[in-house]
Amino acid sequence: MDNKNYGFETLQIHAGQKPDTTTKATGMPLYLSNAFTFDDADQAARIFALEEGGYFYSRLSNPTVDALQTRMAALDGGFGAVAFASGTAAIMGLIMTVCQSGDEILAANNLYGGTIGSLSGTMVGMGFTSHFVNPTDLEALEAAINDKTKIIFVESVGNPNGDMLDFEAISAIAKKYGILFVVDNTTPTPYLFKPIKFGADLVVYSTTKYLAGHGNVMGGVIVDSGNFNWKDNPVIHYLICLIKHIMISFMQI
Ligand SMILES: *Cc1c(COP(=O)(O)O)cnc(C)c1O
Repeated sequence: MDNKNYGFETLQIHAGQKPDTTTKATGMPLYLSNAFTFDDADQAARIFALEEGGYFYSRLSNPTVDALQTRMAALDGGFGAVAFASGTAAIMGLIMTVCQSGDEILAANNLYGGTIGSLSGTMVGMGFTSHFVNPTDLEALEAAINDKTKIIFVESVGNPNGDMLDFEAISAIAKKYGILFVVDNTTPTPYLFKPIKFGADLVVYSTTKYLAGHGNVMGGVIVDSGNFNWKDNPVIHYLICLIKHIMISFMQI
């Protein structure tokens, strides 16, 4: 569907999904298939070479995951999205994709405890250093930036404090230094807040919480605004990031 013409409520239900042409089913099926067929060998070659859209292996994507990714990008006003097995996997996958060993993350000190644990524990062992700052103290935030800082990471509504930030001011600081501004929007979801409108480059979610809503499934998503200047070509870089993400197979759905 063409998302541009629909309101949020319609996108919530329909974005990223076409009615099944064979069965006419309205619900999105779970495609429990790793492999997919091709019209012929030439089409297979084009799809494998990413020259033509299509599914060829579920670690990269499949119709079910694709519907979730496309829907989340539509709800957030983003360019594309990548789904993960949990919110923590999304955050770890993001850092492992964007940062190299030795790089630094500037993180708000009011983050979800599990994220603080990952940033100050597991990630340190992998060579990524995090500095935790009070995100309302913009001077301290800017002063903590150095030439190794790759990401400013905040939560739109902090879990559990429920506090909010001056997103546009933090985005301006991130832009000034060419740093990726990442907002964890798990608590409000795009229904209540759309971080991309306020300058976020990437939005991450634990879909385990309010997005799924029923306490019966875990998941995570990264939505790319398409606005970050990834060198000179945001589209190509996004695709490279996508491929790097999906190589981290153990984290994928
Ligand atoms: C729960 C949560 C996470 C981690 O997500 P999981 O799906 O539990 O891995 C990350 N950020 C916030 C704000 C959360 O509430």
